[in-house]
Amino acid sequence: MISPDWHEISRSLTLGSRAVIGGRFVDAHSGRTFTSFNPATGEPLAEVAEGDGVDIDAAVASARKAFESGVWSRRAPAERKKVLLRLVELMRAEIPELSATESLDMGKLVRDAAGNDIPAAVNILQWHAEEIDKVYGEMAPLPEGNMGLIRRVPLGVVGAVVPWNFPLNMAVWKCAPALAAGNSVVLKPAEQSPFTALRFAELALEAGLPEGVLNVVPGFGETAGQALGRHMDVDCLAFTGSTAVGKLFLRYAGESNMKQVWLECGGKSPVIVFPDCADLEAAADQVASGIFYNQGQVCSAASRLFVHETIEKTFIDLLLKRVTAYQPGDPLDTRSGLGAMVDANHARNVMRFIEEGRKGAALVTGGNAVTVNGRGSFIEPTIFSDVSPDAVIARDEIFGPVLSVIRFRDEDEAIRMANDSIYGLAASVFTDDLSRAHRVSSRLTAGVVAVNVVDPVSPTVPFGGFKQSGSGRDLSRHATEKYTALKTTWIRYRC
Ligand code: NAD
Repeated sequence: MISPDWHEISRSLTLGSRAVIGGRFVDAHSGRTFTSFNPATGEPLAEVAEGDGVDIDAAVASARKAFESGVWSRRAPAERKKVLLRLVELMRAEIPELSATESLDMGKLVRDAAGNDIPAAVNILQWHAEEIDKVYGEMAPLPEGNMGLIRRVPLGVVGAVVPWNFPLNMAVWKCAPALAAGNSVVLKPAEQSPFTALRFAELALEAGLPEGVLNVVPGFGETAGQALGRHMDVDCLAFTGSTAVGKLFLRYAGESNMKQVWLECGGKSPVIVFPDCADLEAAADQVASGIFYNQGQVCSAASRLFVHETIEKTFIDLLLKRVTAYQPGDPLDTRSGLGAMVDANHARNVMRFIEEGRKGAALVTGGNAVTVNGRGSFIEPTIFSDVSPDAVIARDEIFGPVLSVIRFRDEDEAIRMANDSIYGLAASVFTDDLSRAHRVSSRLTAGVVAVNVVDPVSPTVPFGGFKQSGSGRDLSRHATEKYTALKTTWIRYRC
């Protein structure tokens, strides 16, 4: 198959930059805009409407109006499915353009966007669309003469605030189940990556989603995001982002209308490699991609590697061989191994962690900020060994291509160190001993524990964390539970 000319596609894009409110494309009420930059080149991409509280008010009002009208919320599930499946087809036809957009917008490799991220987002939308007309209610076991019908009903207006690392995916993880269930949505994309969310809303209108059911307001967290979190007429707030901001959303809800809050926050995911893992080559492939995919800007990135002392050297050598495949390059060039960091600010933060790491651990490879063709914010794939489990780089979420290697002596020690974290999002175990696989996975505190694979994701499997990684689960039918409430109708009849 001939690979598309990604530079050509990216030049042909027209990036929508106005908010989508009530089915219309509008400027911010204040008239303000912010500049969106391509982090791989530092060049401006577009001026984007800078929504704030006033625009959020307008978006929530239009979402409420659509919800109360029943135009979507009371439409038969099979009819909602039809509209969402039309949206799936429109998105599928635009995978190249959506992929190029995300690559320009946040620096990810276009190869990953087109080969994984964007098709995955489309599949997840399809999965929730197809699920919705298969959700049955219950009948309570009441005495004769009474009937208790228990149904799942939409909540009303759902606010969604998402990060920049997988812009379309994170938007779809929230919007797909929320919309399928009949809610109206106000989505605030991250300021670093607004374009695919705006295109998503445009395509949704084209697919026949009624006006006001999906609104997208680009803008900053402290203004637009906070306004959504504090809004008195938002019934549920679904957030993906940092733990610090997740905590703010709990506060916003407590200080406003006690809306439901679902949080998908940070992580510091452990990978434990036992000496009884028969295929260390395959394990090294997984560990390398687990930390370097998307420049390590992944909430569930495998950033802590616990390796048994007897295989530590062998395993680090195997990782070093793989590092050559993850060298920074032009994100639009399919031969590049690592894209750009989302922006210069974030790259500086990651470099501060690397400098901190140099003080107490051994730098095995990488450690430098680099440019590509003389520009952009890139960081080399970086591995530290001899990392103390108490070191900052072993405890804090770096959100960059930085792996901390920590050796262990026995199973108990590995589990104890792996669980010694404020996070509990994902974990992986490499072993060929079935009993050990079960034993260790049941003792690790993580929403997903993967055995002999790192960070597998599927629409059928719930995703989310324990502890300060958040609450609730995205994906699978359990995501639908988040955007619905149980409602009982109790009927008494004459026997
Ligand atoms: P962030 O928390 O800074 O921003 C996320 C969103 O929150 C953005 O839309 C931002 O505008 C908004 N926001 C920021 N400050 C706000 C405020 N004061 N009030 C209201 N909204 C505010 O996170 P980020 O830097 O965009 O993303 C990286 C973080 O996201 C990492 O911690 C990562 O682990 C996490 N993440 C988690 C998951 C998951 O599923 N658990 C997935 C992806 C990313």
